[in-house]
Amino acid sequence: NLRANCKLNNGVRMPYMGLGVYLSEEGEEVINAVKWALKAGYRSIDTAAIYKNEEGVGKAIQESEVPREEIFLTTKIWNADQGYQSTIDAFNKSLKKLNTDYVDLLLIHWPVKGKYVDTWKALEKIYHDGKARAIGVSNFLQHQLEDILKVADITPMVNQIEFHPELQQPALLEFCKANKIQVEAWAPMMQGKIFEVPEIKALAEKYGKSPAHIVLRWDVQMGVVTIPKSVKEHRIIENANIFDFELSDEDMLIIKGLDKNKRIGPDPDNFD
Ligand code: NAD
Repeated sequence: NLRANCKLNNGVRMPYMGLGVYLSEEGEEVINAVKWALKAGYRSIDTAAIYKNEEGVGKAIQESEVPREEIFLTTKIWNADQGYQSTIDAFNKSLKKLNTDYVDLLLIHWPVKGKYVDTWKALEKIYHDGKARAIGVSNFLQHQLEDILKVADITPMVNQIEFHPELQQPALLEFCKANKIQVEAWAPMMQGKIFEVPEIKALAEKYGKSPAHIVLRWDVQMGVVTIPKSVKEHRIIENANIFDFELSDEDMLIIKGLDKNKRIGPDPDNFD
């Protein structure tokens, strides 16, 4: 059930599964992907200013038959736009491109040193103005979250991080949980590499599911929101079929054992 959701620390509900649109091309490609997802029952879309496809996302939402208020729309403030006023300006540009007057979740894309605290203050202003129903961060490690918590009027509702069987970050997950920050997984399918992990392939066979289903189901059982990406209609439909089975405790432990603390993307302490 694609409407399965969690409650953020301000009471707003966020679907456990959404469509990611990183590297989905502006125009027809992203428009189709979002329309297919909405038709298949997805109610959450994850974009970002830097993906340069916000216009297509907005267009697809508008042209779909799903009312805007049923959709949980996320965008992010890019690194070059961080700082107080530049964040406000960048956000207004995103709103215009998305053709909406609010987003459901606004994230700081990466913790840019010396800037992310001011950026957070801008997100709080946007939240107070009613233009984002929830605000959060992405790619924040514990020490960066602590910097925010020290000055924050509002505790971030979400931390969207690279999270998959080979990068599980258990201490960061614990910290987020203790502080009521919902964790959201990016690259849940290891950007396609999950299909080559033998243990995941074996579990897929055992459950009569695909490797994608195994990891996406694992995310949800871990209490982590997940946003698999695809631009192909059959995969968008197929990836969502994770609500008709359950991984056993034993099999959850098998996946736990695959952690290599290995990133695909940049290190949040050293990314530019
Ligand atoms: P992903 O793990 O979702 O993998 C996507 C790739 O997997 C696709 O390009 C496709 O090649 C393959 N795939 C998808 N479904 C498949 C299927 N059923 N069978 C075979 N192959 C399949 O990787 P991602 O796109 O990097 O991450 C998901 C989303 O997370 C992004 O689209 C974006 O919205 C977000 N993201 C955020 C950040 C960040 O810094 N906050 C970084 C990267 C991605």
